[in-house]
Formats: sequence, structure tokens, C-alpha cells
Amino acid sequence: MSRVAYVNGAYVSMDQASVHIEDRGYQFSDGVYEVVSIRRGKCIDMEPHLDRLWRSMNELQIDEPMARGPMKVVMAETIRQNRLQDAILYIQVSRGVARRDHPFPADTVSSLVMTCRRFNFDAVKERAKTGIKVISQPDVRWGRCDIKSISLLPNVLAKQAAREQGGFEALLIDADGYVTEGSSTNVWMVTSEGKLITRSTDDNILPGITRASILSIAGELQMPVEEHAFTLEEAKDATEMFLTSSTSCAMPITHIDSQAIGNGKPGPIVARLVEQYWAMMDEAV
Ligand code: PMP
Repeated sequence: MSRVAYVNGAYVSMDQASVHIEDRGYQFSDGVYEVVSIRRGKCIDMEPHLDRLWRSMNELQIDEPMARGPMKVVMAETIRQNRLQDAILYIQVSRGVARRDHPFPADTVSSLVMTCRRFNFDAVKERAKTGIKVISQPDVRWGRCDIKSISLLPNVLAKQAAREQGGFEALLIDADGYVTEGSSTNVWMVTSEGKLITRSTDDNILPGITRASILSIAGELQMPVEEHAFTLEEAKDATEMFLTSSTSCAMPITHIDSQAIGNGKPGPIVARLVEQYWAMMDEAV
């Protein structure tokens, strides 16, 4: 069965789906997006994803392409038409089509595109048993990483560097040696006292939806958490490390730049968080 995309009011087959060449998303990266996980047909954390989408649009003064209620209908219909159970739903809103000129155009209509593709969450769950290797890369992004902008070139280059060096993800390091986040993930460390540390969302990172879920799971498990920056050196000395995102879920990090974290295997605290996160993912609707 061919995939179906939603494009500005119509459900069309993927090979017919296209946007205008003067769409500002295409020309200026003038747009925002969300990636929502679908596990066994269920949208994970739909409301927080929509909250963040609306926040991103507001920050950039992009008009909502439709109200939130109809948006949920389109999401459900896009998933339904693709007949998928385990999938990722991609939602993109751009400022719309206008003659190429930098300032915001006077009367454009925002563009809305959604695509949905099969995603193997069971493989992610399996990978969490052995964990992943990551590399470090300089964070050369802008000062508004709290906005989920489609302007992702530095993230793409960092991820590519990771892949070329046999890593799954690149940890981004700021000019002072602090870990900001991954190219598409939030990053966590566990200290020798068993304390979880992750950078604050006030500190130029994306407020990850999975990050928020893990914070509440850690609260339920009465694990101590501190939200502040940590350096790459501290990360390499950590007892355990992991990252979070909608598609990686909670994923142990076993090596940074070829250096083993702890004994180079997923540790017990992260394993506990991984287990609880999957319990949430897999619980019956
Ligand atoms: N940071 C960045 C830069 C990201 O692109 C993502 C993935 N969207 C995340 C963190 C994780 O966010 P979430 O848990 O909402 O997927």
C-alpha cells in the first residue's frame, strides 16, 4: 500500500505530495515541526506535542494553520489512512507561500503538511538493552534552540559526523565545554551518588517531551534529579549516561568518543528508567 500524506487540505499519495517552490519553509527554513510516536496505534504524549507546536508557532508569529481540534482530526486521519500501528507522525507548519523576500509577508496562509511512516519501536526497545555509542561535536547552533524550528542543518551535520565515526548520536558541546543536548535528543548523566542530572530547559535546549516524561518517572521512583548544565568531562566520568527523544525513547549511552561510561554497559539506574518508560509506551489504551 502506498503511503498517504496530508498537504494543505488534501490527503494525497506520497508520490503526488508536493509543496510550492516559494514556500518559506523551503526557501528560509521558516517553519516549525513535531514528531509524534505512535505505538500500537496510540499517539504518545499528543497534548504536550501540540502544546509545544503552538508555542513554536507563537514564538515565530506563524499563524496556526487550523485550530487544535481539527488538527487532531487530521492527525488521526493521516495515521488511519496509512494503516500503521507502530509509526512516527511528522507535522510541519511553515509560514506559507510568498514572493521571496526576507521580512514576514503581509497575508500568507500557513502551510500544513503531515506524513506518517512505519517505525520499528521493538528494535529501539531491543537496542536499549545494549545501549549506544555517541561522539561529541561543537554546538554551532543559534540562540533559540527552545523553538522546534525546521532549520536543522547544524543538527544534520552533527548526526552525519556521528554516523561516519560509528556513533548513533552526537552530543553537542558549547564553547565553554558544556553538553547542551544531542543533535535530536536530550542528554542525561547519573553521578556516583545516583543523582540524575540534565540541562535546564531555560538554557537554550529543546524542551523534550520525553525528557519531561522521564522527569515525572524519576519523581515517581523517588530518584534525585538536578536540572543544570554538565561538562563533557563530567559526562565521560559519569557512572551512567542516557539520552531521550520520542523515537529513541530512553536510551543508555555506553561510550562517548570511544571512552566507556562506567563499565561500558547500561547501568541499573538507567535500566530502571528505560523499563518504566516502556511500561508507559506499552500499556494498554
Ligand atoms: N533535542 C533536539 C534538538 C531534538 O530535535 C529532539 C527531538 N525532537 C529532542 C531534543 C527530543 O525531544 P522529544 O523528546 O520531544 O522528541
